[in-house]
Amino acid sequence: MSDYETVVGLEVHVELKTESKIFCSCPTKFGGAPNAQICEVCAGLPGALPRLNQKVVDYAIRTALALHCEVTRESRFDRKNYFYPDLPKGYQISQLYAPIGRDGFMDIDLSSPDEGSITKRIRIHELHMEDDAGKLTHDEASRKTFIDLSRCGVPLLEIVTEPDFRSAEEVVAFLETLRTMLKFIGVSDCKMQEGSLRADVNLSVRQVGADELGTRTEMKNLSSFRAVSKAISYEADRQWKVISEGGTIERETRRWDEEKEVSLAMRKKEDAAEYKYFPEPDLPMLHITSQKLATARAELPELPQERKNRYVTQMGLPKYDAGLLSAERKIAELFEKTARICGDPKEASNWMMGDFMKLLNDTSTAPEEIEIREESLGEIILMVKEGRISRASAKEVLRSAFAEETVPEEYATAHDLWLIRDEAVLMPVVQQVLDANEKAVNEYRAGKTKNLQFLLGQSMRATKGKADPSVLAMLVTQALQNDMT
Ligand code: ADP
Ligand code: MG
Ligand code: ZN
Repeated sequence: MSDYETVVGLEVHVELKTESKIFCSCPTKFGGAPNAQICEVCAGLPGALPRLNQKVVDYAIRTALALHCEVTRESRFDRKNYFYPDLPKGYQISQLYAPIGRDGFMDIDLSSPDEGSITKRIRIHELHMEDDAGKLTHDEASRKTFIDLSRCGVPLLEIVTEPDFRSAEEVVAFLETLRTMLKFIGVSDCKMQEGSLRADVNLSVRQVGADELGTRTEMKNLSSFRAVSKAISYEADRQWKVISEGGTIERETRRWDEEKEVSLAMRKKEDAAEYKYFPEPDLPMLHITSQKLATARAELPELPQERKNRYVTQMGLPKYDAGLLSAERKIAELFEKTARICGDPKEASNWMMGDFMKLLNDTSTAPEEIEIREESLGEIILMVKEGRISRASAKEVLRSAFAEETVPEEYATAHDLWLIRDEAVLMPVVQQVLDANEKAVNEYRAGKTKNLQFLLGQSMRATKGKADPSVLAMLVTQALQNDMT
């Protein structure tokens, strides 16, 4: 059997995290009682009229810009007609002819220790808005199917890539980068287990070096990165085996069986003509003004990938740390503020990656729930750098700043945490310690230099650990030398 190449294109569905649905004002909240969040519009009662949620348009434009797409200024909706019990109105309102975004791309990082730094550009064919369908639950025992229409009308973005992937690793890297980016710009939670990020995998195989693409199948029901990865290698092997044995691949939709880890034929692939698409007559053209577009462009934050690169190249952080600190908007902004205040990105990164992340973990705090004053960590790091406070005390100050939003300066003063650096205060204490430890002092004088550590420790203890260690060391050494002369 000769070598083959796997070719994959993705259709990714993303649920937008708007409060209300795309064509009515029903809430989108996940996990409520079945059919509790429906009205005549999302349940598709005859005569009900859709009204477009502008927030959905804003999110779609933001996503289109983040994916470097061209935004369609005269966009519109189309009806995709089909019958299925989870869709009572008999059609999905989608965008076929004038999707909101076209011709974009996203770069993925495929670097590895073995092969060094590699990025690959995945082209985005288009991005469009549509409404989700309801959810069917099949109960084996009673042989009944239950219909929950609450998901009808939940806003979706469908992101369609060109067939640019050549391996499962590339697909997973793309989905991870996309998820981080969509969460960062605040349009979706991208929870795969709740179905707010769903990917359909279009896959074909061909002889290595062939120009033409092979016939593809489309796999649905992939609810984790692991499933995506498994499904790709299974389906590629299956197709190549069929071809090697002289067979042909059917253009069909297949279902991934998560338990058996096999893909199963589901139905012959419909083409666009079978959906009898036509322009949605109940919604007006969607005109995107240049003002709206300019505002969206101006408000688009620097994206996580770009931030990550900047943290590595300009701040000198390791890639791993840069990746973690740039993934969540709240964390990234806090890190940058901290680095600016303390003037030391590496130290800011150390504190964020260490003590700060530990606080988040220990208190199960999600990044968006962080309430610390944004200046606090930077101020604390400065205090340590300036020798005004010990590391141990700084951790205490941080805990309080995190839990109670206390101001570091005020907290340190109120709890008497400042280190003593005043020589006039420390010198008498040192003298007292040396007087009380005559034997050790004499031994030091006779050449037993390691007694310095002991005398330093005793002096530190005498100040209850509050002395600035460098000032104290200087005073003890000095005093010992004075004794010797
Ligand atoms: P349809 O409208 O029938 O779903 P599209 O041309 O829009 O078909 O493609 C859907 C998805 O299939 C896209 O993600 C595209 O990249 C991918 N695709 C198209 N041709 C192939 C192929 N030969 N092999 C793998 N993926 C493909
Ligand atoms: Mg399709
Ligand atoms: Zn509704």
